[in-house]
Amino acid sequence: MLTLEGIDAFYGDLQALHDVSLTVEQGRVFALVGANAAGKSTTLRVVSGLVTPRRGRVLLEGRDLSRVPAYQRVDLGIVQVPEGRRLFPFMSVAENLLLGAHTARARAERETTLRYVYGLFPVLADRQRQLAGSLSGGEQQMCAIGRALMARPRVLMLDEPTLGLAPVLVARIFETVRTINADGMTVLLVEQNVRQALTLAHRAAVLESGHLVLDGRGAELLGDERLKRAYLGL
Ligand code: ATP
Repeated sequence: MLTLEGIDAFYGDLQALHDVSLTVEQGRVFALVGANAAGKSTTLRVVSGLVTPRRGRVLLEGRDLSRVPAYQRVDLGIVQVPEGRRLFPFMSVAENLLLGAHTARARAERETTLRYVYGLFPVLADRQRQLAGSLSGGEQQMCAIGRALMARPRVLMLDEPTLGLAPVLVARIFETVRTINADGMTVLLVEQNVRQALTLAHRAAVLESGHLVLDGRGAELLGDERLKRAYLGL
């Protein structure tokens, strides 16, 4: 569904990605893991069009997106939940969610999607009129995921959705990703919780200093000796 081919990306003189290639298959969860500053967020930014690669291509169902600007990629169904959630704190939960449905395609199905999101996160239904900024961290993450779903993504990209959350909420977010995927959503997930991400993901890749050093089935990588030493402390 989504393919990155030989991506080199830079910030000024700093090369953040070196020849990164990966494929996210339709209906699957792909996890991208790695240490701080490995280039995970940059990879998502290349897909969403916020960083233009110096070399390489991003393809959505075979279509080269090189000349498609970021805002049009959302119309095509590439939707990102940014790291840090980026909600509008002085707007209500419902207003934040509805803002997600800004494309014509999403607007047409707004009410159905809103019911789906409230079904997924009943706490958001209970707090529809509450200011988003007054939600707990876990609820804010749910609202950010809900807002992204309102855009009717074809590929949902999540950048560290569990960052800063207590273990019980981390588990809840992983469970949600599993549910969304079971409902048919293709997911590209960036995570520092390596074990949980690899357990959930059908396929996964490890980035180190901008290089893709390992990739394979999630379960396969969990058993990889190098990965165990580097990320799981085993
Ligand atoms: P983290 O988990 O810390 O967000 P990451 O794997 O997502 O890490 P990136 O944010 O993609 O890593 O960063 C990759 C490299 O690019 C790092 O060396 C980082 O300092 C650099 N970088 C990221 N954003 C910018 C920017 N806007 N300007 C300059 N350098 C940047």
